[in-house]
Amino acid sequence: MPETLEQSAGRFDTVLIANRGEIAVRIQRACRELGLKTVAICSEADRQAPYGKTADSFLCIGPSTAAKSYLNQDAILLAARLAGAGAIHPGYGFLSENAAFADAVEKAGLVFIGPTASSIAIMGDKISAKRAMMAAGVPCVPGPDTALPDDPATIERIALEIGYPVIIKAAGGGGGRGMRVVPKADVLHEAIALTREEARKAFGSRSLYMEKFLEHPRHIEIQVICDDHGNAVWLGHRDCSMQRRHQKVVEEAPAPGIAPDIIQPVGLACVQACLQIGYRGVGTFEFLYEDGAFYFIEMNTRLQVEHPVTEMTSGVDIVQAQIRAAQGHVLDLIQGDVTCEGHSFECRINAEDPETFLPSAGVVTHLALPAGPGIRVDTHIHAGYKVSPYYDSLIAKLIVHAPTRAEAMARMREALAGTEVEGISTNIPFLRALFKDGAFAQGETDIHYLEQWLKLRRAT
Ligand code: ADP
Repeated sequence: MPETLEQSAGRFDTVLIANRGEIAVRIQRACRELGLKTVAICSEADRQAPYGKTADSFLCIGPSTAAKSYLNQDAILLAARLAGAGAIHPGYGFLSENAAFADAVEKAGLVFIGPTASSIAIMGDKISAKRAMMAAGVPCVPGPDTALPDDPATIERIALEIGYPVIIKAAGGGGGRGMRVVPKADVLHEAIALTREEARKAFGSRSLYMEKFLEHPRHIEIQVICDDHGNAVWLGHRDCSMQRRHQKVVEEAPAPGIAPDIIQPVGLACVQACLQIGYRGVGTFEFLYEDGAFYFIEMNTRLQVEHPVTEMTSGVDIVQAQIRAAQGHVLDLIQGDVTCEGHSFECRINAEDPETFLPSAGVVTHLALPAGPGIRVDTHIHAGYKVSPYYDSLIAKLIVHAPTRAEAMARMREALAGTEVEGISTNIPFLRALFKDGAFAQGETDIHYLEQWLKLRRAT
């Protein structure tokens, strides 16, 4: 007999969190609030992780190198079986956008807290994602929705048709890597060769595509949440233009200066695209925005680092909603219920030198975190915590919310002033300086602004 909606809802009661750091803490909290048991995993380097103590089970699954622990699919599936987990939450990074892993989880009889393997496969490949978006009527960056051929003459023709400058991107790229800007024809083939090699090494595929390099866009993204029953909503927009080396540093919601009638059709197109591909769970559509027009660049089929700014403005607990969708529950939200209030900023606090941005590992000897109305800190560290050199340098996310953008900026300045991390270097001094910058305070700065600001600072 087929399952009814009621029977299928609540498919699991124990969740294995296949991740580490602040996001492991965030997901564990959401699970507990939903009455679910949690299984934490760790590598040898993370044996002392504080979230291990608060989980119902805590298993060390392998050596410190991520390839042998957080990316080891067999070890994670074995841990899930041993601990009696019914579902796996992949967090972000690691295996979160790995279609083969999502498939293996489901084949093992567990629920993957995320979209289906086929949605990940379509949207995880930037070329097929672009094709799917074009078919759903979502505007994309000019350039073909097919992989670049090997023939040099055809590549040259494609670049001329698009018009220089162009950007070469790896179809399987991520984390700001596997991209190269080509200002003019004479460096085209060299750029292709370098990016192909980089893509092969880093992403296991030499597939590349080419699009117009937009010279002064902003990065604006739309958060969606969908259930398994044909319901989907978008939860407003974020601006993530403050980037260094294509990596986000500060995020905010909503994106300043975007009129509702401009963003509305884009949000609705994202929802339509989700319904068309049968998308489940949370996801983010990323766009570049230039001269009043939006251009889709990629979709992230997972929870994102910056999800808190949308939680602060929409009041929706995105992680809980994601877990409930995976349990088979009907979305308890319709588009008309979604309202976004006030303004929110997030600063990524990284263990890195504030001048050179080189990672800084070591023991945190002193930690003071800010508190007060509209302040949230998502972190896994404490005084005495050892920051390991093996993983991403993100040690905390500082999030503020206030009625207006100016008030939220003032609140962030105050929160940053009250944040003290000693024993390791962090980017806090750099963030403090950035939040005093006049152009940033005005809003609407583009994706190149931060790099230019850093260059100017170095020169003076
Ligand atoms: P990743 O998956 O590595 O995050 P994205 O495709 O999301 O890569 O792009 C990351 C960033 O690179 C964007 O936010 C933007 O700053 C820059 N970028 C990507 N595509 C373009 C483009 N066509 N023109 C200009 N900048 C781009």
